[in-house]
Amino acid sequence: MNDPVLRLDALVKRYHAGQPNEITVLRDASLEIAPGEVVAMVAPSGSGKSTLLHIAGLLDAPDSGAVAINGTEVTGLPDRRRTAIRRDEVGFVYQFHHLLPEFSAAENIALPQLAAGASRSTAMARAAELLDRVGLTERAEHRPAELSGGEQQRVAFCRALANGPSLLLADEPTGNLDPATSDRVFDALMALVRETGMSALIATHNLELAARMDRVLRMEDGRLVAG
Ligand code: ADP
Repeated sequence: MNDPVLRLDALVKRYHAGQPNEITVLRDASLEIAPGEVVAMVAPSGSGKSTLLHIAGLLDAPDSGAVAINGTEVTGLPDRRRTAIRRDEVGFVYQFHHLLPEFSAAENIALPQLAAGASRSTAMARAAELLDRVGLTERAEHRPAELSGGEQQRVAFCRALANGPSLLLADEPTGNLDPATSDRVFDALMALVRETGMSALIATHNLELAARMDRVLRMEDGRLVAG
């Protein structure tokens, strides 16, 4: 059997540990995501969704518990190895696009590939292919400020997928858009995810969007439970 693309095992995360204002955000959070599976994570704001996504994406470490990506247990790996796994295996999308304002849409998508060692021509060709898949070929040379909110977010999806990750982590990826745009942009994201066969963990407040994923989890009292 294939390893899960993401396995979180009994994660605990506290802030302000040992101080009077200590809070336990994750208490015993566990999940497994199979290859190609798209999982929604639904919970009110402040429940710990971003904290969990940061830990799953190796941007933060838990106080206890384990994280494995494609069967590789990452807790305890040297920073250099963790950074390489994050770069090669994980794509991030946030509520705000975080595109670099001085670069074009295509260049924003090329940058993570250049950081991973691709040549400029290969990176720009891949950027053009991804932009085509989200219907933004005409916008390739535009800077983020010249794009609508929905277009900016579609470029951010392309950037997240640029290095061909096996796991997409998304934190309210359409939370900043009006409902009609949010639906269309979410469709674009799902199409990209399904075409590539990647796995995804997507935090959202939107129950209709959540219902379109393979499985819904709720975060409740620092744990993940079936939704
Ligand atoms: P969500 O993404 O569901 O809104 P978060 O993971 O952002 O939840 O936050 C969960 C809780 O942890 C909140 O109460 C938040 O204030 C707290 N928190 C998040 N990050 C930090 C931090 N770096 N230091 C202290 N508290 C934090």
